[in-house]
Amino acid sequence: MTLDLNQKSKRNQGNLFVVSGPSGVGKGTLVFAAVKALPDVALSVSATTRAPRPGEVDGVTYHFKSDAEFDELLGHGGLLEWAEVHGRRYGTLTSEVRTALDEGRDLILEIDPQGCEQIQRQLPEAFSIFIAPPSLAELRKRLEGRATEDADSIARRLETAEVEMRMQNRYNVVIVNDNQALATQELLAILARRRGEQAYTATEPGNDS
Ligand code: 5GP
Repeated sequence: MTLDLNQKSKRNQGNLFVVSGPSGVGKGTLVFAAVKALPDVALSVSATTRAPRPGEVDGVTYHFKSDAEFDELLGHGGLLEWAEVHGRRYGTLTSEVRTALDEGRDLILEIDPQGCEQIQRQLPEAFSIFIAPPSLAELRKRLEGRATEDADSIARRLETAEVEMRMQNRYNVVIVNDNQALATQELLAILARRRGEQAYTATEPGNDS
């Protein structure tokens, strides 16, 4: 299913940001900090078939779905993109994106690189941000430090990360997450610049088609 954003006046249309990168790079933490600092930018709540972790709330962290419910969403075009990540399915609800953008609200999708590719194909106006680790060795250290993954799972994630790192030139910008505070500042600056540019474009004389 495609979301026809081009038919609408850009003046009222919210900005869509996609933040992606390898597993363990810290993109969730960066996005969380950015959304906290920018109350008028929302984070899209995805659907997933993975089980909730302690403290996660249905409808807030994710919309937790059974396999059958996820299939149903897929079947009626309820997902703008979806991917299998580490054996579980994750997808962006079309309704989340449509509602936010049509209401003129800016929205961030924090999704894996396979999902980002699908968004880039469907919505080329989406602004994509790749979060990269300083190196694969550092990413390995972080994954090992999490202590939630076994050795096999870490090896698989690193293999995937190697492939994903080669895709970073397809993004509008790359942030190297070497220092969390600095990377957050960089993300905030990128979001602010893009939002400013869009606001300027929308109010430029003769650009109100
Ligand atoms: P976690 O299970 O740790 O919350 O997330 C695992 C991975 O799934 C992360 O890389 C996250 O970015 C990705 N992810 C979360 N939601 C979505 C989504 O809606 N679509 C896609 N393609 N990936 C997602």
